[in-house]
Amino acid sequence: MACMTSMVIDAPSRPLRLTTGPIPEPTGTDVLIEVAACGVCRTDLHVADGEIAARYPVVPGHEIVGRVIALGPDAADIAVGDRVGVPWLGRTCGTCPYCRSGRENLCDHPTFTGATRDGGYSSHVIADARFCLPIPEGYDDAEAAPLLCAGLIGYRSLVMAGDGKAIGLYGFGAAAHIIAQVAVWQGRSVYAFTRPGDRQAQNFALKLGCRWAGGSDQPAPEPLDAAIIFAAVGALVPLALKAVKKGSRVVCAGIHMSDIPSFPYADLWGERSILSVANLTREDGRAFLDIAPKVPVRTTVTRFKLDEANEALAALREGRLEGAAVLIP
Ligand SMILES: [Zn+2]
Ligand SMILES: [Zn+2]
Repeated sequence: MACMTSMVIDAPSRPLRLTTGPIPEPTGTDVLIEVAACGVCRTDLHVADGEIAARYPVVPGHEIVGRVIALGPDAADIAVGDRVGVPWLGRTCGTCPYCRSGRENLCDHPTFTGATRDGGYSSHVIADARFCLPIPEGYDDAEAAPLLCAGLIGYRSLVMAGDGKAIGLYGFGAAAHIIAQVAVWQGRSVYAFTRPGDRQAQNFALKLGCRWAGGSDQPAPEPLDAAIIFAAVGALVPLALKAVKKGSRVVCAGIHMSDIPSFPYADLWGERSILSVANLTREDGRAFLDIAPKVPVRTTVTRFKLDEANEALAALREGRLEGAAVLIP
């Protein structure tokens, strides 16, 4: 009998555990997807560490690429055999003030894939058809997976950063390696700030078209029009504020960050601003997945088997990955 294999987090700070069980049946607007690849995101580490709201036990993973194999009775505009992506935004209420004003990323009653509903560290996943995204051709399953969070939440962050030419990216992991390509394609000058001394990440950034790469302890070579912080390090916020021009934004792209140290008001003065980017809308997903093949964004991925999820998370935690890790069931 066919069964579902998953890597589950039983409780915070415990290693993921391989489980098997029956393949679930989709209900309502849900579909059953056979997972082909699932990206490993920093948010998965926050779920594993209990740093953000999640329900346990939970199967993490919200950069899912797979094929629909069964439809719930109310699933529309989707067919068995479709290749789809399942992102972080699993479902929204559709009725709260945020949903009704086009800001479903801020929904009061959302469901998040791989945090409050089971995600893609699995052979199969149930997802709401209304929140699945089409995957552009020209990407294989593993290459497409990081587009679904690193790519599209990174893209939302880039849009929030404004149209300035000189842009700094702090933390050069999965999201930055995608967004750097988009920003270069848009004609911007991209400055990559990595962990101090991380020559490998700096060379990787230069290879992707960044104008400059250095440690986050180094000053920016020119005043920046915007900065995006992808690393979960609060101490980068005052550093980035010092690097941006008057009237510029420092965008915090992650869902969790260590505390931000205090800093003099003078560093914020001059209409500089700090903002966070939360989640995504389906519109963000469609916009980014339309742009990605035009750039074209090329993702660098390291493939792990599903039962190597703990190793993949450790590699991410220790900064040993170039680009993104992807689990293949
Ligand atoms: Zn809502
Ligand atoms: Zn993510």
